[in-house]
Amino acid sequence: MELAGQDVIPTLRPYQVELRDRLTQAAADGHRRLLCQSWMGSGKTVLASRIAVDAVKNGKNVLWLVHRRELVFQADAELRAAGGDPAIMISGDPYDSSKSLIVASIQTLYAWCIRRKKEDHPPANLVITDECHHATASTYVAIHELYPDAILLGLTATPMSKSGKGLASHYDIIVPGPPIKTLLDDGYLVPIDYRVPSIPDLAKIKVSAGDFSAQESEKALDRPELVGDIVSNWTRFAANQPTLVFSSGISHSRNIVSEFKKIGADFRHIDAKTPKSERDEALSLFKSGKISGLSNVGIYTEGTDIPCAAALIFARPTMSECLYLQTVGRIMRTFPGKEKAILLDHAGVVYTHGKIEEERNFYLTHNAEKPVEIRKRIIKRKKLSIICKQCDTYYEPKERKSMVCPSCGYTPEINGKPMSSVQGWLTSLTAKDKESEYNARKKIFYKLKNYATLNGYKPGWAACRFKSKFGSWPPWHWWH
Ligand SMILES: [Zn+2]
Repeated sequence: MELAGQDVIPTLRPYQVELRDRLTQAAADGHRRLLCQSWMGSGKTVLASRIAVDAVKNGKNVLWLVHRRELVFQADAELRAAGGDPAIMISGDPYDSSKSLIVASIQTLYAWCIRRKKEDHPPANLVITDECHHATASTYVAIHELYPDAILLGLTATPMSKSGKGLASHYDIIVPGPPIKTLLDDGYLVPIDYRVPSIPDLAKIKVSAGDFSAQESEKALDRPELVGDIVSNWTRFAANQPTLVFSSGISHSRNIVSEFKKIGADFRHIDAKTPKSERDEALSLFKSGKISGLSNVGIYTEGTDIPCAAALIFARPTMSECLYLQTVGRIMRTFPGKEKAILLDHAGVVYTHGKIEEERNFYLTHNAEKPVEIRKRIIKRKKLSIICKQCDTYYEPKERKSMVCPSCGYTPEINGKPMSSVQGWLTSLTAKDKESEYNARKKIFYKLKNYATLNGYKPGWAACRFKSKFGSWPPWHWWH
């Protein structure tokens, strides 16, 4: 008996249908390089599989590009579930070039068709690039250049490269999926409880190549008291929750793991040099609930599907919004019995990038945001947010329209009095700002006045210099 396609293919969610229509419209409007921005867990590969299979049914050739081995097989399975019959192109596996739908590993396609020229590149009218925030890499550029007449469709949750560089040279238009808040409200993702038990002094960590230097970050965070703090706060807030740790470096990660061992919690360390068998074993032990946590250095930041993970210890500072969003995305997937996930911020990432559900508008730009701008944002967010004195919950009173901690109900106190009005709190912040600005200007004026006296200038000189700097005269009583 043969089942009709429609009976076995799962139906798309309403927002996926809307997103598909928007992409179709963008292509109809003449855009050839489309970037589909949709959050992790929103099912963008399910949607793209449907688009790919429909294109093949309409007589087109489709090429699906991924950058990791396991993603080749994941895409193959997804396309089959959508009713497609793809061939895969990955070294070590047989390749059937006669198929109209090909899932290729970027590295293999590059090696076979560009570097060694042992195969013709597969023909394609539509090229789908998964995790397309990597598109600035030279292999991606070279492959995309093979298809000047095809429609390029890039998929990502974070349309900027890890270094923050925009993707404007690679795509013409961003077609956004639903906001993360909608996905949370509709139950497609689990909400996050933000706790900030300790943060390093980010102002002291130097920046190199657009992000906090890895070496300096590790130096700042890999200290016995801070590592101990990570473990004690985990016991306080996330004990026995399947936990992922993102560490600043290999020695930091190993120290965290051994500190967990001391309290009898089985955590494993993983980095890029860990043998594949050991990595696979640790991951499967974690997924089956036999170990409590995985501490890694740059391994699980994206792509890896670990829906059972319910707690995340962020122990590496980063200026990369892409890295932050991708990392937090790891714990937001739904899983039986998981009602929320907890983020334990030991690296100041919430100050740096805000809550993940904060409204974000993505643009196609060329340049990365400057570290100095990011530092300014950290200061601003630090000022406009509160970390509960009782339970370390991070919240933004203005957004909540309440001063009360959402987790424990504590009302913050200022000068010994409970601060219940958000407006009053904001006014007191503005007053503080004005006061410090006033003091800073006064200091500058006194320096100028001193300089004038020492050099025998006329009394008005300092006042004139002050006015040209700040646009107004100094108050009269400063003169005397
Ligand atoms: Zn609280």
